[in-house]
Amino acid sequence: MCYQSSMTTDRIVVVGAGITGASIAYHLAKRGAKVAMVDAVRPGAGATEKSFGWINATFSKHPRAYFDLNQLGIAGWRRLETELGGELKVQWGGSVAWVAAGGGADALRDSVRRHQEWGYATHLIDGDEIHRLLPNIAPGDFGAACYSEYEGAVDAMDAVKAMLRQLREAGAEVRYPHEVTGLKLERGRVTAIQAGESSLEAGVVVLACGVAIPRLAEMAGVSVALKESEGVLVHTRPQPKLIDRVVLAPDIHCKQKLDGRVVVGGPVVAGPGTAAGTPPEPGEYGKRILTEAAQVLPGLRGVGVERITLGRRVMPVDEYPIVGFAASCPNLYIAAMHSGVTLAPLIGQLAALEILDEARVGLLEPYRPARFMD
Ligand SMILES: Cc1cc2nc3c(=O)[nH]c(=O)nc-3n(C[C@H](O)[C@H](O)[C@H](O)COP(=O)(O)OP(=O)(O)OC[C@H]3O[C@@H](n4cnc5c(N)ncnc54)[C@H](O)[C@@H]3O)c2cc1C
Repeated sequence: MCYQSSMTTDRIVVVGAGITGASIAYHLAKRGAKVAMVDAVRPGAGATEKSFGWINATFSKHPRAYFDLNQLGIAGWRRLETELGGELKVQWGGSVAWVAAGGGADALRDSVRRHQEWGYATHLIDGDEIHRLLPNIAPGDFGAACYSEYEGAVDAMDAVKAMLRQLREAGAEVRYPHEVTGLKLERGRVTAIQAGESSLEAGVVVLACGVAIPRLAEMAGVSVALKESEGVLVHTRPQPKLIDRVVLAPDIHCKQKLDGRVVVGGPVVAGPGTAAGTPPEPGEYGKRILTEAAQVLPGLRGVGVERITLGRRVMPVDEYPIVGFAASCPNLYIAAMHSGVTLAPLIGQLAALEILDEARVGLLEPYRPARFMD
């Protein structure tokens, strides 16, 4: 079946200006396509601006095909960083992870071995090596630890802004706030997006609007199954340099951004203020997370909370990406994924091949939207 619009010279409308939509729009515009991108709020307003931004292919990334996709995702960032020149800086430094004594050491060793067999640059390390890589970290007693050399972290908003600048230079239109409220359909194809009274004609529509994808896709009879998943991050004010790699301790994970701010991820707490979209009260929760983080990163002792973010992950029910043209609406392209930061440059590149060249990229076959249709 040919999924592609015969109208690649027509406008391609990308709905959602998060990291996924920005990357798809950027890669399309780079090829000379006529692109318009719209966002209900502002670029990055969804999961993207609340993301930790770890670029990785470790250990939740399996089976092999999904690991391969993520490893190519890492390579995609190397390529994008080069392409955007000085406009974007990824913090390459790898990640250091460890588990508590008696707390899953065998599982970590098995994961490291499996990833090594897949050719991934990760290896077990001892306390001396942790100290060499992270002199300001105090891991305490641990059961097993590893270093994944080629991982990194990025400020996803910096990346969105850099791609948007390029998009505008290529003549693409970026509209916000512009909430898509409907899709105009004719003979099984989408012909325009609607935002209240206004409509924008399209040869192809890309739905990259995160947790809003199921609602819009449903209008075209396409089922996209996401589940609820929230994540909290605590941000400090700029600090002197403490760490220059992603740190994955048993109960918290943290990184230090180029501006010196330390970002700490912890569990979502139950209780008031944790409803979707409403950050918990910064005071107590943030202090608790930073106190916990200070046990492994003593330089955080006494450091105050600057802000807390609570994000809704774009989490497919089976936790794998949902990417590609919808079988029942052949010019509607869906792009929903967790690990969207890791995957964004790659997905943008592959989506451009599928949208502009009628290619069906084999790497994306396991992730087609059709898997949710009865
Ligand atoms: C706490 C947290 C930590 C994370 N950590 C990592 C990590 O370390 N590494 C990693 O790879 N991934 C991570 N993720 C996941 C990653 O951030 C997401 O997968 C990614 O940001 C999704 O980007 P997106 O562009 O698909 O969606 P979003 O960023 O949600 O963007 C969707 C956009 O669509 C817009 N929109 C919504 N409805 C409409 C509408 N009707 N009309 C027009 N526009 C609309 C929204 O305003 C929004 O800007 C994390 C996520 C969270 C929440």
